[in-house]
Amino acid sequence: MSNVEKQDIADLPEILNAFEQALELERELGTRAVDCDRALLLPISAKDLKDVKDLKDLKEIKDVKDVKDLNDSPVAEQAPSTKHQAPSTEELAACTKCTLATLGRQHVVPGQGNAASPDFMFIGEAPGADEDRQGLAFVGAAGQFLTKMIQAMGYTRDQVFIANVCKCRPPNNRTPSPQEMEACLPYLRRQIAAIHPKCIVLLGRTAMSGLFPTQRIRRGMWYEYAGIPVIATFHPSYIIRFDPTTDPVGLRAAKTEVWNTLKLALARLGKQPPGRK
Ligand code: URA
Repeated sequence: MSNVEKQDIADLPEILNAFEQALELERELGTRAVDCDRALLLPISAKDLKDVKDLKDLKEIKDVKDVKDLNDSPVAEQAPSTKHQAPSTEELAACTKCTLATLGRQHVVPGQGNAASPDFMFIGEAPGADEDRQGLAFVGAAGQFLTKMIQAMGYTRDQVFIANVCKCRPPNNRTPSPQEMEACLPYLRRQIAAIHPKCIVLLGRTAMSGLFPTQRIRRGMWYEYAGIPVIATFHPSYIIRFDPTTDPVGLRAAKTEVWNTLKLALARLGKQPPGRK
């Protein structure tokens, strides 16, 4: 059996779980409102779908073969040194540690939001074209879905911190190379140490393998980084690539899984989604 086949089998419970959740949501929607999902289930516009063609959103599936460590047990990752300060915009703008510095970046994108121990820090992969242009993380199509996720949790974008593993845009939105990630990760680690969020939500595989390079991270399970609880879910660009007309069930399953993970994150801090207090 190939490694990919072994991985497919290992992922079966997750896939079945997602289908069960989708069916459950179908049943629920017929009888009672699901507060969060009002936001998360908003239809995706034609523009979102067009924009997503630019996004590097398929690696949720195709990167599975790259995962070597199949150890499922949650293990605390090494703590960053707390003596570091978060890197300043000027420090990042001067960075030449990897090739992305020479590949036409317009802005380095440090991330933004509440840097004073917010309840949540969301970590994505790397800036896309919109982010590169504006110097802000998650302001394109995927960012719009992330905004919905954050609002469904009862927060504004300003109340959480939003960052990426890589601070510069990889050309053509390709996945950052291992060298680029390795060069940039110390910045993220310093941000986490300085910002000290109460909970970290990792968005997609690059964030998962970036923060936990030696572990197989599973979506919806708890991990710990420097004493901070960490949970992972799909990258927003994975969600918005579903075509609601041709794959409504897949879309709903993915959204439901994301929402269930966000509810777990809220519960970890003793909170509930708005409307359920
Ligand atoms: N995708 C990311 O991972 N980060 C961004 O900032 C935008 C899109």
